[in-house]
Amino acid sequence: MSDNESIYDELDVPTVINAASTKTRIGGSLIRPEAAEAMVSASESFVRISDLQAKASELISDVTGSEAGYVASGAAACLTLGTAACIADTDLSVMDQLPHADDAPNEVIMPRTHRNGYDHALRLAGAHIVDVGNNDNHLGTGSVNTELWEIEAAISDKTAAVMYMQKSYSQPELTDVVDVAHKHDVPVIVDAAAELPPKRNLTRFIEEGADLVVYSGGKAIRGPQASGILAGKQDLIESAAMQHLDMHVAESVWEPPADLIDLDRFAGVPRQGIGRPLKVGKEELAGLIRALQLFVEEDHDANVTEWTERTESMASALKAEPGLSITVTEGEKTAVAPEVYVRVDPEVAGIDATALVGELRREDPRVFVGPDHLHESAFTVNPMCLTDDEADYVVERVRSYLD
Ligand SMILES: *Cc1c(COP(=O)(O)O)cnc(C)c1O
Repeated sequence: MSDNESIYDELDVPTVINAASTKTRIGGSLIRPEAAEAMVSASESFVRISDLQAKASELISDVTGSEAGYVASGAAACLTLGTAACIADTDLSVMDQLPHADDAPNEVIMPRTHRNGYDHALRLAGAHIVDVGNNDNHLGTGSVNTELWEIEAAISDKTAAVMYMQKSYSQPELTDVVDVAHKHDVPVIVDAAAELPPKRNLTRFIEEGADLVVYSGGKAIRGPQASGILAGKQDLIESAAMQHLDMHVAESVWEPPADLIDLDRFAGVPRQGIGRPLKVGKEELAGLIRALQLFVEEDHDANVTEWTERTESMASALKAEPGLSITVTEGEKTAVAPEVYVRVDPEVAGIDATALVGELRREDPRVFVGPDHLHESAFTVNPMCLTDDEADYVVERVRSYLD
């Protein structure tokens, strides 16, 4: 929609008008210009990566209240790295064997209701997922979620961690899961990849006792797409760093920053670890640091007001169409912003929701709306990654397919 020649014009690759929110498959969020500038500046000199990681750790610890922090190539990468830290701790030989360390505690307990598509990130580190819960959504027993005793019963000397997938509706409560796990000295990892904003979620899970929390750097923080934050206990972060940093080092002169790694805890230097393929460069580190600083300073209420107004305005424009029925969903439930939920009546509209969503995607620029409710003959329109002009454009494109 812009007249400026962009790299995508040059490559002849269609751009996307994003009414689907921060989705990695269409480029996540738009990086903050200041973070992009930080990346260019970072690209102009060499720097010791561990020094930059130590700086990131200090900032992550300041803003989350954790003992330490670390940056890898995404929240999913941080799940892998955090799991590897829980399995190996300071044991160099286990680090060396991962992902095949069957003598080490390598089971990760997950409430069955928390299983999700990112399980692979845990298994990549060598974890065996022990999925527990006799939850019953059908017989009216009241037991619709995994219960605490079921988690506790699964804990053994093979347990490396309990994995908790954070959503506003996640059950059992994190504090209760932490109590059960800590009673048996088992750490809890929280996947909060997409749970920002609200900003209070930066400190909340650490406060509630999580040992490791992951956040995506490329969603609402608006840092580099290939960045993620691991926040948590100093000893686990040290283990993560040992398994992630480039380890082609000469041991006799290797002095990583003492606040990132306490070398006295380790018997030597492990070589390229399980986390090495999850690398971040100086550019991602610098960009993430700048983006996180700005995210913390940002006026979140102003963003919510902007998203709400944009959503309301798209909703009222679409309400005029006889083939559509419109509701506005509440923010901070399934999505962080309020969204327009659009139900399509194919008899009146002359097109069904699936065909409409498909047509929009085939345009140039491609128009992406949310497809998670196609089975209800509906799609969603999310305001977070649109400008006001783009919001008008999306409404116009939807209308163009209706009778
Ligand atoms: C987005 C997301 C991830 C992955 O985040 P990346 O930064 O893209 O690696 C993991 N878990 C959940 C719940 C997510 O929403």
